Amino acid sequence: MYDLHCHSDQSDGILSPEQLVSRAKANNVAVLALTDHDTVKGVARAKAQAGAEGISLVAGIEFSSQWQGRGVHIVGLAIDLDSPVLFQAIAHQGQVREKRARQIAGRLERLGIPGALEGARRYASGDQLGRPHFARFLIDEGHAGNMNQAFKRYLGAGKPGDIKQDWPDFGTVVDWITEAGGVAVLAHPAKYKMTRSKLCAMVQHFADSGGRAIEIVCSKQSPDITANLVKIASKFGLHGSCGSDFHSPGQPWQELGGFGSLPAGVPPVWELWQ
Ligand code: MN
Ligand code: MN
Ligand code: MN
Repeated sequence: MYDLHCHSDQSDGILSPEQLVSRAKANNVAVLALTDHDTVKGVARAKAQAGAEGISLVAGIEFSSQWQGRGVHIVGLAIDLDSPVLFQAIAHQGQVREKRARQIAGRLERLGIPGALEGARRYASGDQLGRPHFARFLIDEGHAGNMNQAFKRYLGAGKPGDIKQDWPDFGTVVDWITEAGGVAVLAHPAKYKMTRSKLCAMVQHFADSGGRAIEIVCSKQSPDITANLVKIASKFGLHGSCGSDFHSPGQPWQELGGFGSLPAGVPPVWELWQ
């Protein structure tokens, strides 16, 4: 069983890379790709643990990008961790996140809440600062009673902390992955809530840009979605990938290894690096 999409505490997951690999092994995953958001910090640790547990670990990453103004995620699989292009790409993504974190902190300060940048950083175990870290700061400082309130009052859609991140164009991200020796995979195509024609236009552009695969199965999903994505992959000559998008225990709809297998009729993405 292949699970080619999951997160550790080096991005927004809960488990350490070691805990993640052990859980994958217990769930009968034989080949796991760690794909943290815009970082590969956990990969070496995951690889060491995978060696000890007797499973395979694929070096991966999930890059944020945009296509026609929409946020789109692109997974890179079997990337070369020593690639200078990868190193620069990750540095760039870090700057985008940092800029946004500063803007959120600036807006909170104007609302009379100082110190949010340093405050939020206390809750970030990796080096990525996101809105959940600001939410925890706001709760601890008494500005919100819980996560929900923090988003409703300060961080959610239309609120002061709702700042769009200026992610790179999707073609740029595909180039980064390809130049780092990896395979570019369009993540969770069904989750962008696009019409079928819009989705096809995006997948076409992805294939034209050098993308090689799309996620046919991501988390638990309905058979209709799977069947539709098989058709789209075939139409554009793409390989298929599958993964849980696991972030933490207690979310059975995205458990490690807890999704259907990749359907026949689409070539599996791992053919591209085996
Ligand atoms: Mn995530
Ligand atoms: Mn994603
Ligand atoms: Mn993900």
